[in-house]
Amino acid sequence: MTGFNEVLPTLENYWRSIILFGRNVASYKFALGKSLIEFASQGSEIVTLEQLAEPFSRHICQHLQLADKQATSSSSRFLNACRKYNVGDMGKEGLLDCTTKLGFNNVIDAFHVVHDSELGVRFFTDERNGHEKGIRLTQELFQLSEQFQFCNLPTEIEARWRLVESAWELSLPRHVLTVGYDKESKLLFASDRNFQRKVITGCRDALNGYQKGKCFYCFGDITVEAASAELADVDHFLPHSLKPFGLGDLIDGVWNLVLSCQNCNRGPKGKFAQVPELRFLERLHTRNSFFIESHHPLRETLIQQTGTSELERRRFLQEMYQRSKELLVRNWQPEYEHEPAF
Ligand SMILES: [Zn+2]
Repeated sequence: MTGFNEVLPTLENYWRSIILFGRNVASYKFALGKSLIEFASQGSEIVTLEQLAEPFSRHICQHLQLADKQATSSSSRFLNACRKYNVGDMGKEGLLDCTTKLGFNNVIDAFHVVHDSELGVRFFTDERNGHEKGIRLTQELFQLSEQFQFCNLPTEIEARWRLVESAWELSLPRHVLTVGYDKESKLLFASDRNFQRKVITGCRDALNGYQKGKCFYCFGDITVEAASAELADVDHFLPHSLKPFGLGDLIDGVWNLVLSCQNCNRGPKGKFAQVPELRFLERLHTRNSFFIESHHPLRETLIQQTGTSELERRRFLQEMYQRSKELLVRNWQPEYEHEPAF
């Protein structure tokens, strides 16, 4: 035995790292990623900013129609031009001109930066100061384009893009929606870098849209007003204490968060770190299905976290429930329940 084996990242690993873990202040990186994929299939090494402007602005315009918030800052001349184009107040030529001038200011520099430093692999080089005035696609990008997984990369960017949009639209803390990539299952999953309980109060408004001011467990009155003495608790349905016992990052996913009255969560016979009775699991599934079927902004997040079909999502909840019960053994239910409100 020679001890540990070094792990060498593949080109796919690098690409994914950029898309999943790069810092996002605007969704430009996703639009550039999608554009690079299109150009890689065409085989030409040099792409001028004028050429890049077409797919880049097309992707941004499409996404502005899905979610108007595409950056953390409130104003952007480039995004405003895209909005004008979308409502017919600007022609294609004006849009492309504006994109060439304003669209690439930061994204070309920032694309390869992950966790504050540049990756060791580049998928293009910056040739804006050369006479081509654009970017040069690298052999690494062409190699990536020949790999089997290449056809999945646009879908992955799309999924990640939708998650970031959802977070911005709902003003949710980012960790609730942070995704990682699981190689075995080929799924994106919710992730939290350190096993710490984070403040998740930003979820209240989003969750209350479904719960309509009632406790998830007892249907008693709750409020989401920060100053109120009756402020709802954001409760982990399957307890947060399971995190270090194999349920890990999944437990912080929004699929597992509900609003609870203080009494149910931490009153004299409160839930604390117990597993709710099985009928509440059905209630949770109904809640998550509602968000998905009503095209709520949390839809994409819930699908990413729990599965793409109803059956998959049922299996996921069942498995999580089973693992929780195996560890915590007992069930909890509220002492008293009001008239069902959902
Ligand atoms: Zn309650």
